[in-house]
Amino acid sequence: MMPRMAGLVAQSLCKAYPTRSGTLSILRDCSLTLDAGRSAAILGPSGSGKSTLLNIFGTLEPPDGGTLTIDGDNPFALPAAELSDFRNRRVGFIFQEHHLLPQCSALENVLIPTLAKPTGPDLEGRARDLLKRAGLSHRLDHLPGELSGGERQRVAVARALIYSPALLLADEPTGNLDRSSAADIADLLLGLQREENACLIVVTHSTELARRFDRRFELNEGRLAPAA
Ligand code: ADP
Ligand code: MG
Repeated sequence: MMPRMAGLVAQSLCKAYPTRSGTLSILRDCSLTLDAGRSAAILGPSGSGKSTLLNIFGTLEPPDGGTLTIDGDNPFALPAAELSDFRNRRVGFIFQEHHLLPQCSALENVLIPTLAKPTGPDLEGRARDLLKRAGLSHRLDHLPGELSGGERQRVAVARALIYSPALLLADEPTGNLDRSSAADIADLLLGLQREENACLIVVTHSTELARRFDRRFELNEGRLAPAA
């Protein structure tokens, strides 16, 4: 695996939403630098803007101000068509809901990001390998409805990694799981992140989970600060 130097560099990100009762300022001057191969947890009260921040990191939403570089590149400088390609290949997302396609098998779901424009050798082999590392070799042909909640989330983790993204983002990935499945998903995320030398940023309510990450931050009143 080639070493990656720059992971994620976010500088002075700002975001506000216009509402009927005026402008709602969500993020004020949020900065975060994370080296390649490192992990961070973001804590903060409900409604503090954690998902908004993660969506900006993942290029799903542009900031109103500030800059973002991922793996040395500024995604928001790209034309729209290239931005979606960048997002598809360089960023992996895991949400609280697994968002698997119900009519597709576990293996097919992991390959979904590759359907638009498949590139790279043996993507199916990569998908099988990721599912194996996620402990699901015996579930390749199962539909999401035939899997447990924890297994579905494992498939979602494998899908996020199909293109070896520089940045792996997870928004409350264990929020719907029992304690034991949640710990398993955390093990899997942190294990694969290290093996793949990706940056991992996870939003969580669990201080127990957050303790397992290299760094912890708290978002409060629009500001991101190091947390204990
Ligand atoms: P968290 O993930 O920390 O719970 P969010 O990032 O989802 O918080 O939302 C932060 C705040 O921004 C909330 O008060 C929410 O209502 C508001 N918000 C999110 N998206 C929009 C939007 N598109 N338009 C207006 N307000 C929004
Ligand atoms: Mg949220």
